[in-house]
Amino acid sequence: MNRPAVIHKTSPVGSVKPHWDDYEGERSRFSWRKARQALSGMPGGGINMAFEAVDRHLDTPTRDSVALRFVARNQPALDLSYAELARQTNRFANVLEGLGVQKGAHLFVLAGRMPALYIAVLGALKKGVVVTPMFSAFGPEPIATRINLGAGEVLVTTDVLYQRKIKPWRQQMPSLRHVLLVAEEGGLTQEPDTLDLGQLLREASDAFTTVNTSGQDPALLHFTSGTTGTPKGALHVHEAVVTHFQTGRYALDLHEEDRFWCTADPGWVTGTSYGIMAPLLQGVTSLIDREEFDAERWYHLLAEERISVWYTAPTALRMLMKAGKALAQQHRFPALRFVASVGEPLNPEAVWWGQEVLGLPIHDNWWQTETGGIMIANTPAFDIKPGSMGRPLPGIDAFIVEHLEFEGEPPRVRVLETPDVEGELALRANWPSMFRGYLNNETRYAKCFAGDLYLTGDLARRDAEGYFWFVGRADDVIKSAGHLIGPFEVESVLMEHAAVAEAGVIGKPDPVVGEVVKAFVSLKDGCTANEMLRMDILAHARKRLGPAVAPKEIAFLPVLPRTRSGKIMRRLLKARELGLPEGDTSTLEAGA
Ligand code: ATP
Ligand code: MG
Repeated sequence: MNRPAVIHKTSPVGSVKPHWDDYEGERSRFSWRKARQALSGMPGGGINMAFEAVDRHLDTPTRDSVALRFVARNQPALDLSYAELARQTNRFANVLEGLGVQKGAHLFVLAGRMPALYIAVLGALKKGVVVTPMFSAFGPEPIATRINLGAGEVLVTTDVLYQRKIKPWRQQMPSLRHVLLVAEEGGLTQEPDTLDLGQLLREASDAFTTVNTSGQDPALLHFTSGTTGTPKGALHVHEAVVTHFQTGRYALDLHEEDRFWCTADPGWVTGTSYGIMAPLLQGVTSLIDREEFDAERWYHLLAEERISVWYTAPTALRMLMKAGKALAQQHRFPALRFVASVGEPLNPEAVWWGQEVLGLPIHDNWWQTETGGIMIANTPAFDIKPGSMGRPLPGIDAFIVEHLEFEGEPPRVRVLETPDVEGELALRANWPSMFRGYLNNETRYAKCFAGDLYLTGDLARRDAEGYFWFVGRADDVIKSAGHLIGPFEVESVLMEHAAVAEAGVIGKPDPVVGEVVKAFVSLKDGCTANEMLRMDILAHARKRLGPAVAPKEIAFLPVLPRTRSGKIMRRLLKARELGLPEGDTSTLEAGA
């Protein structure tokens, strides 16, 4: 495979001209004040996410375009136009109004990727109600913990999920006043102490005047993935929509004629910021697949649904790579013109794979639940350096900092100006989708700031051309014989081996060198774990990384433990290796 260190930005694919191609110029012209003006704002002077995403289109031809297209196995596709989405979300807002739910109250959604989820999220935002979508696969305990932390007043869920995950524990969620049930496949919604959402929607008016929320009113409470510890509840406000709008253009290059597929579930921030908000703001058609990952199905959907912009995650890409090229080569993707990825470091191998199999490189981008939107990205405006997460978007100032020796709080840091030095990634906290707090955890929130810099907890380096390279999470970095080893570098090298599908690397305590590198790998379909293969992978790593950084041990696992948002949980690999307690596993994907 041809593996260039730089993939040059290409001329536009098809007739669509990218939104930008002058990185420096656009950065110098950009201001968040001007960015706000690109949106309508409320007639009363405020700003409301759902108004911008849905109602703003009603006076334009977009109102008749498909906003959301739901597909599922064994069911016909369901298309909702912008006009229909406006009516349905109005109905939902009226249902809340009828129940006496006030602005600022908290609503949770526990449902698969079905229309009711999207209608509830947008309808609640219209009413000024704060929303949290949860993964439907969560067990009862993580659900109750989240609802209690957010003092959830309303829950939208399905009859099946209610019976399995809520009903027996309902007494433990005293704040819950209303449970609105959606019938799954013709089921019953006549549970005591619940309401039939379908019936309430039918009875409600489809006219509603969206509440004139201020940009600073809370809108969404998102929980972090729980990769490094107990998930934290990050609160976002309505003006975050300005970031969703701008980044949808800069980092995903969304154009109104696009057919967009964001594979993330709204239970993870990506599935809301980019699975709901950003595409609606740009007036595009979004595909929503109600099924779980399946390599064959995904290729089929990309091709048959004529997806033009695709936003996915490294885990999914690695699973596609694991399934082999032959499967991909059974399909053609002529409509596809831009592919992006988020959630974990994207190994260079995956960027080149995209080039070879999809005919397009994959644009890695970096952000967090806390940042609410994409901050650093590979974009159409400049060349890709595979393995780098790209450059800060217009309006985002990113730095590499080191902590100063200082025992107290808040932390103190020094900005490292020299390129190619590793340190903590920090951002000047001045963009609209910046989180406004960790719910019930002021102390933790305060620890994230040094003056006006937000400290991300990730380690990175910046090269002379302003590209940022992810090194590892501060918690995952390995200290071995005076070296600081970032797991990403080691994992990427392991991934170069033809048999390796996935790799997770930890530091294992060692009396002599502090920590030694231990790798866990899962193999590509058709490869068998044996001693010869282990030696071969070790030899490859040693050749590429040198003996100080290469793993000393390699263990084979059928799958690596990961969060429901697809992140390898290195802390769990470590806890299991050392026989320590596993800690919070509420977001662990089943079977891992
Ligand atoms: P928790 O904070 O609960 O431990 P989490 O940090 O995984 O979980 P998210 O907010 O979903 O929760 O993930 C953000 C983190 O994901 C980032 O801080 C970073 O470590 C990682 N990440 C996201 N995108 C990238 C990327 N493109 N490259 C490298 N790392 C990434
Ligand atoms: Mg985090």
